[in-house]
Amino acid sequence: MIRANEHFSKLQASYLFSDIAKRVQTFQDANPDVDVIRLGIGDVTRGLSPAIVDGFRQGVEEMAQDATFRGYGPEQGYPFLRDAIAANDFHSRGADISADEIFVSDGAKCDSGNFQELFAKDIKIAIPDPVYPVYLDTNVMAGRTGTYEDGRYQGIYYMDCLKENGFMPELPKTPVDLIYLCFPNNPTGATATKEVLRTWVDYARENKALILFDAAYEAFIRDESLPRSIYEIKGAKEVAVEFRSFSKTAGFTGTRCGFTVVPKACNVYAADGTKISLHGLWNRRHTTKFNGVSYPVQKAAEAVYSEAGKVQVKEYIDAYLANAKVIRQTMADLGFDFVGGENSPYIWIHGGGRDSWDFFDLLLNKAGVVCTPGGGFGRCGNDYIRISAFNSLENVTKAMERVKDALK
Ligand code: PLP
Repeated sequence: MIRANEHFSKLQASYLFSDIAKRVQTFQDANPDVDVIRLGIGDVTRGLSPAIVDGFRQGVEEMAQDATFRGYGPEQGYPFLRDAIAANDFHSRGADISADEIFVSDGAKCDSGNFQELFAKDIKIAIPDPVYPVYLDTNVMAGRTGTYEDGRYQGIYYMDCLKENGFMPELPKTPVDLIYLCFPNNPTGATATKEVLRTWVDYARENKALILFDAAYEAFIRDESLPRSIYEIKGAKEVAVEFRSFSKTAGFTGTRCGFTVVPKACNVYAADGTKISLHGLWNRRHTTKFNGVSYPVQKAAEAVYSEAGKVQVKEYIDAYLANAKVIRQTMADLGFDFVGGENSPYIWIHGGGRDSWDFFDLLLNKAGVVCTPGGGFGRCGNDYIRISAFNSLENVTKAMERVKDALK
């Protein structure tokens, strides 16, 4: 008898985006003349920048000729891309990461979801609330949690991120082995200072723990004092893995490319305390289960680091940050409490006593604007909504005018 992995039955069906779609459809059916503006899901809307398209095209042209055709490439990524990443994303910021510590992949969702395979089943895991759901659900699938009760999985150490603590997870009060952190944060848009990251690196070093640091939104950081990588913190190389993505940086959500940094200095431990190289484990997993990102996509990603690419990618992000500013200003004018949107595409808004779905319905029905109810990201999100800056300035401005009219 073929048995199922019954841990999957513990998963809470994610009704979030299907519920949103249903409510939007109902509204649209009743109000066919309203052009609904979507500031809900975190997907980019702008086309790829010209330098990136040139890189992509060059890769495709090379594939068309016998002389330059490429078949299977190195699973970890082509050296031209790994070298460009090491130089531009790390060396330029004083982080000593070498090209062979970078594993190019098809995105941060897969890597952040797959990485837990490398750890024992009975480790203790700390996860922020609210959270990007992938970290949690992949550990549920792997059998690292108990059942779901009162909005939470048994066995997980939840780190509440609320206004009272500046939306920053606090150091665990009981020991944990694996810590998920994400800055700039999805969904709250909060950013961490170097001092905050230092406390986490110190904690991990003292407790032989590991940090999985998701920096998918680092390109939105404009405040030069904020760290873009955890490796800007001394000692992080021994205790942290970093996930990166070209999705939001350069509009690759449909093109698919990202990478994970696994420093050679990073170790995990056997039950008897023997050190095991995490780099070796991930390399083994990656080369066994993954056959590399397509050559044209890696050429497109390489172009992100060309002189023209750097300028265009900055303009690309600036456009979304300009949208975020309009959203922030509107929320400030309306007197809402909010965080994010300064070094992040997300603005996390307290509903002033409204439940997150009630606030969602209010914006949809009175303004024709779609946001994301915070409850979909965890119990601590029940009083919040997330508004995303991924749309055109024209639509964001129109949406915010409507929200002002509806709520003033
Ligand atoms: N990490 C976070 C925090 C995200 O919000 C997202 C996408 O929304 C991802 C990772 C996924 O990135 P990718 O498109 O590279 O898979």
